[in-house]
Amino acid sequence: MSSQGATLPPHVLIFPLPIQGHVNSMLNLAELLCLSSLDITFMVSDFSHTRLLKHTTIASRFERYAGFSFQSISDGLPDDHPRAGDQIMDMLPSTKNITGPLFKQMMLEKNLFASESRRPITCIIADGVLSFAGDFAEEKGIPLIYFRTISACSFWAYLRIPELIEAGEISVKGIGMDQIVKSVPGMEGFLRSRDVPSFCRVNNINEPILHTVYSVTEQTTRAQAVIFNTFEDLEGPIVSHIRKHIPRLFTIGPNHSHLKSRLAEKTAENSILSGSFWAEDRSCLDWLNAQPPKSVIYVSFGSITVVSREQLLEFWHGLVNSGHRFLWVMRPDSIVGEGGKSQIPKELEEGTRARGCMVGWAPQEEVLNHEAVGGFLTHSGWNSTLESIVAGVPMICWPYFADQTTNSRFVSEVWKIGLDMKDTCDREIIEKVVREIMKERKEEFLERAENMAKLARKAVSEGGSSYCNLDALIEYIKTMII
Ligand code: UDP
Repeated sequence: MSSQGATLPPHVLIFPLPIQGHVNSMLNLAELLCLSSLDITFMVSDFSHTRLLKHTTIASRFERYAGFSFQSISDGLPDDHPRAGDQIMDMLPSTKNITGPLFKQMMLEKNLFASESRRPITCIIADGVLSFAGDFAEEKGIPLIYFRTISACSFWAYLRIPELIEAGEISVKGIGMDQIVKSVPGMEGFLRSRDVPSFCRVNNINEPILHTVYSVTEQTTRAQAVIFNTFEDLEGPIVSHIRKHIPRLFTIGPNHSHLKSRLAEKTAENSILSGSFWAEDRSCLDWLNAQPPKSVIYVSFGSITVVSREQLLEFWHGLVNSGHRFLWVMRPDSIVGEGGKSQIPKELEEGTRARGCMVGWAPQEEVLNHEAVGGFLTHSGWNSTLESIVAGVPMICWPYFADQTTNSRFVSEVWKIGLDMKDTCDREIIEKVVREIMKERKEEFLERAENMAKLARKAVSEGGSSYCNLDALIEYIKTMII
């Protein structure tokens, strides 16, 4: 390397699974590293790259970082694949079988993205579910860090799958869902079989999904380090169990809030970038401006959840009968069954206008921080959970799948900042929990949510645990230059 080359910064390849929540949190990580002058190549799927360019100002946002560039690659799915609901699981084999070989070819043909002004990749930070990226890193001797976009509590439950099987604590055919699970240390006493990540509910113990999620989790431990989007005051006791398997573990979250605080420190910027795959309908902010403080329940089930017409009607009746105002995000592709969105009954859309607002996609972070919002009916996706925590908004959880079933149990039983509806979808229950969060137990939930928000903000402020861990991570990445 030339003498000029020797002074070049580390060059990190960041590679998320190309779905909304994963891309959001890893884009935030990318910008955090850019702020420390690291060179970043961000690998995203062709499908999501097109959407990001169409619906966000991402290109101009990253222009300020000379060392940042995008690369895009196929996710292995046809363009018309829904990329939602249970079919999202197709992305694991498609990325492994199609994206994996393309990635290898691209890395070799492009000489690890080296140029006159950039070193070849010095470290790969891959989404923990992309094991092929880990295989490539190992094969070429490139340092590997995994980034897990899920909560530490759900990761820890996945890592204990062999013990759960051994103890007969996996729910088979829905039997024993209420039994208390004893084989996940740190969760004895409150975790039931129904709270273990949903992929651990099977029809027989040899179901491939159970073994796939375990092997994807277990292989994470081979990386030199693992990053979690969480913070010590939230999940410290659980993280300490994981550290016995992964000693170099950096908790640096909540990433979106961390980025905001570092941006404020280093630039004049005070808002984070939207990485939305859908066009944000900002008219809901005008609607919120006209509502009294803490009067609105925000309803959103993230980027993957789908609902049936029946479930939609239960939610709508429950919300309307609660007597509270609501802002409801209904993605165009979120209603399953014949007819899709055209199944929304006319009276529902008309009736909503009286005390609600419905949009296709919202600027969620801004919405949660709006003073009119007093509660969040959520599917308990990890990003949504963290965004709600930082905004100090109590939650009603209706988990859809995966880690969400564990997150919702922690929200209600451990952090006590919300209620967990779990597997029920019934208008009377919805009405009851909305009333509890928005009126009857409002003060109690708000107080605890605000306390947790303070701890989250402390974690990402100078001297806080996530702040120090990010600095340590960056120093560690710098040692990887040979
Ligand atoms: N989101 C958004 N607008 C919406 C709904 C969701 O910007 O109307 C964002 C939300 O802020 C979060 C992400 O989409 O960052 C969803 O990620 P999460 O992990 O909560 O759930 P997933 O979509 O992966 O199920």
